[in-house]
Amino acid sequence: MVSNGDSSGRAAAPEPSARGAGKRSKQHLAFASELAAYLRGRLRSVALTRRSLGMRLLGSILLFSGCITLSLTLLQLYFEYRHDVSALGLRLEQISKSNLGSLSESLWELDEKQLRLQLTGILQLPDMSAVEVRGSGEVGKPFDIRLGKVSVSSAIIREYPLRRDVQGRNVMIGTLSIQATLADIYRRLFQTALTILLSQAAKTFLVSLFIVCIFHYLVTRHLFAIANFVDKYRISEPPSPLRLGRPPRQHADELDRVVTAFNTLSDDLQLAYRSLHRTNDQLTRELAARRQAEANVREREARIRRLVDANIIGIFVADFGGRIIEANDEFLRIVGYERGNLIAGRMHVVEMTPPEWRDRTAQTMTEIKLGKTVQPYEKEYFRRDGSRVPVLVGSTLFDGSNLGVPLGVVFVVDLTQRKRAEAEARESERRHREMQVELAHANRVATMGRLTASIAHEVNQPIAATITNAQAALRFLDAPSVDMNEVRQILNDIVKDGSRAGEVISRIRDLVKKAPTRRDRWQMNGAISEVIELARGEAAKNSVSVQTDLADGLPMVEGDRVQLQQVLLNLIINAIEAMNGVGEGPRELSISSGTADSGGVLVTVCDSGPGLTPAGRDRLFETFYTTKPSGLGLGLSICRSIVEAHGGRLWAGENVPRGAIFQFTVPAGVPMS
Ligand code: ADP
Repeated sequence: MVSNGDSSGRAAAPEPSARGAGKRSKQHLAFASELAAYLRGRLRSVALTRRSLGMRLLGSILLFSGCITLSLTLLQLYFEYRHDVSALGLRLEQISKSNLGSLSESLWELDEKQLRLQLTGILQLPDMSAVEVRGSGEVGKPFDIRLGKVSVSSAIIREYPLRRDVQGRNVMIGTLSIQATLADIYRRLFQTALTILLSQAAKTFLVSLFIVCIFHYLVTRHLFAIANFVDKYRISEPPSPLRLGRPPRQHADELDRVVTAFNTLSDDLQLAYRSLHRTNDQLTRELAARRQAEANVREREARIRRLVDANIIGIFVADFGGRIIEANDEFLRIVGYERGNLIAGRMHVVEMTPPEWRDRTAQTMTEIKLGKTVQPYEKEYFRRDGSRVPVLVGSTLFDGSNLGVPLGVVFVVDLTQRKRAEAEARESERRHREMQVELAHANRVATMGRLTASIAHEVNQPIAATITNAQAALRFLDAPSVDMNEVRQILNDIVKDGSRAGEVISRIRDLVKKAPTRRDRWQMNGAISEVIELARGEAAKNSVSVQTDLADGLPMVEGDRVQLQQVLLNLIINAIEAMNGVGEGPRELSISSGTADSGGVLVTVCDSGPGLTPAGRDRLFETFYTTKPSGLGLGLSICRSIVEAHGGRLWAGENVPRGAIFQFTVPAGVPMS
């Protein structure tokens, strides 16, 4: 168990370090990936991508610098090559100068060993690759000694004649040929080129990189900022003005100018945008208004078309010569024409208008020409069969006058039915009035009938007095001495009583007589007094005391005196009848006149009867409303229609402390309607 425990302990020991190593490697990995991401970000921010300005700048600098470096290097190599080659040539000249003599001697003496020795010495000089001496045969048989390796390319070969004075003649005894290799020169040049190119390349790259970094710091990052700003720029939600992430400078550089130009452009854009917006809004509104107007026009045209086609009223279109060029069915029906007559151009406004209406029609045409709308007026047209049709016409300038000729549209309403109905209404009104007059007369007669007993008493009284006075006069005349003064006095009384009876009868006759309605100017107070006189007997019979209070200076009233007296008589009789039902208490009838608020005459009839019942107050003036066993319920309704026909008002109220008040007004001098 222990060993197991140990072993497990030992076995377990490496685990933490393994775990630690794993953890560390994970941390390294994470760090590496973070670093990579950071570098990627930096690179991206420095923008060394192929399409970036920095990269292009770097490429351009490298290319240009490379070309320059290459050209200069080639030039340098070329000069060095020329220099080395000429140095090599000089060396060959020196070699030849220093060796030609000895070689000529050795050749003359045919000392091959010496020749070889000398040639080997030449060959060991720098850049010498081969050397050869050829005998020309002047000093023995021709021979050739060659040392070194002859190459066909990359070498300079020079040949020098080997001469000797023989018997006073300078004779060419052979030729020295020296070949110098250019390989060393080439190698040196290559190394030089390599050194120049590598150092220049490294320098150029570093300088370019530096330039790119500076360029990025000074320019590119601001360009990015500008690009980001412009990217996020929304003209509808303009941000605050563009600012570069660098301290403000005393003198504006190109970027500042770009920023200023951009901000100015942005402001201008905003102004333009707002103006565009406003213009757009205005255009939208105008468009909507135009569409609405067009819709209205279409709707109106449709309504007009519906109106025309509905044939509710007659419609026709005519030129200003009066020729009808279009008409709907209703108009053709009104005037009794066929559509064929219209198409044949046989319908003419003036010809269809009766002579008495032609001036008005001409005036209408003038008004339409001036663009006025002619308000509807009544006129007549001739039907095709020559009969006349009453119509209501209204007209205006036709909207579709763009046909070339000005046109008028005329709306025609057939008044035949209305005229007939009006005539019928007039007739009915006339009959109604007649009936009212009849009724009023019947009512008057009935009222007078109810007063027969008391009126008879009124008439009887002066007649009886007359008889008594006549008898007294006869007695005076039979006396031996006639007192003529006394007789004259008695006769005067007889005349007065007779006149009084005659007046009563005349008034009764006026009230009972069936006469047409009159319109006179008269004084209300006189009319009231006469009625009171007539009713006085009835009042006395019913123990009613009559009081009058007639105002002076009342204006004249105009109308039918008898009818208004009938009103007053009805009110007095009603009051007496109402008080007749009251057992106890004074029976007082008060009649007064005065000026109405409206300026006319106000007549008031008060009684001390039971007053109006709540139900009766609302229904008093209704036809056939009565609370009397023998009543007809016509009196007050006739009274109201008479008063209203005179332009006045009749109403009822409560008297204080009891009874009823009836009042009516009659306007001053207002004619009857
Ligand atoms: P009639 O006299 O035939 O009943 P009226 O039209 O003259 O018809 O009167 C209608 C009703 O008005 C009367 O029946 C009565 O009830 C009521 N009336 C009229 N005058 C008075 C009045 N002075 N006091 C109380 N009631 C009245």
